[in-house]
Amino acid sequence: MMGTMFSAAERLWEISRMKADYHTHTNFSTDADRESSPEVMIQGAIKRGLETICITDHMDKDYDAEGKGFVFDTEKYFETLQSLREKYKEKIHIRIGVELGLQPHLGQFAKEYVNAHPFDFVIGSTHMLRGRDPYYRANFEELTDQELYRGMFEETLTNIKNIEDFDVMGHLDYIVRYGLEQEKSYSYDENKDLIDEILKHLVENGKGLELNTAGLKYGLSFAHPYPAVLKRYRELGGEIVTVGSDGHKPEHIAYDFHKVENILLDCGFKYYTEFRQRKPIFKQVR
Ligand SMILES: [Zn+2]
Ligand SMILES: [Zn+2]
Repeated sequence: MMGTMFSAAERLWEISRMKADYHTHTNFSTDADRESSPEVMIQGAIKRGLETICITDHMDKDYDAEGKGFVFDTEKYFETLQSLREKYKEKIHIRIGVELGLQPHLGQFAKEYVNAHPFDFVIGSTHMLRGRDPYYRANFEELTDQELYRGMFEETLTNIKNIEDFDVMGHLDYIVRYGLEQEKSYSYDENKDLIDEILKHLVENGKGLELNTAGLKYGLSFAHPYPAVLKRYRELGGEIVTVGSDGHKPEHIAYDFHKVENILLDCGFKYYTEFRQRKPIFKQVR
């Protein structure tokens, strides 16, 4: 009766050696389901067989489309996660991270915010283009997909030149999800000038890149970033790659992690990275 013995979650646990999800959200994030409490997400990670979950809720200062705030009560966040860390310490390592929304004017804020709290891990993500969220494609209907993608790469470059307080760059090229033609209008070669400049800046400043499997969840043929981009980061000397599902509900934890080993190995990485107290820990892929 092969194939019927395990539930989907258990099967994933059987075949995946990736045991740490370094990009997850709970209902501290404005865009997560209200039922996705930190405890529900942690129990989901245990069910998946993970050894480590890093929770990285959204802190997007000055996000204002539709008047929604993307910020959370950081004191309460630490209080909640530290008590769950104690409660579940025999079952799973819980790391406390944050996904910081980058915008060019937020350098000083990032420095103060990140250093005021004992985070294990900080993802820096570009979610906004010129103060507007391209998740709503209508915000940029005057732009072609190619212009939108290039705009986001330019904005990302400006952000990382202005903000140094993060450990890895989140979901580089996720903007492709919001294109009218998605990956049909995207290629690394067309954007090589900007992407290479971003990657060089990351390498020179000791920053990592994230492999984010949400691309696969959204029906793209690749996890972010596109494999040629990940490979290029390696060629340029980059060594730090964390792996995250960007799950906002328990069933999305470790999404498609069974594909991750091959993606990493194909792109030249024998190690992936976890973070504790903002220090990288390298682990063998296989
Ligand atoms: Zn994000
Ligand atoms: Zn996220």
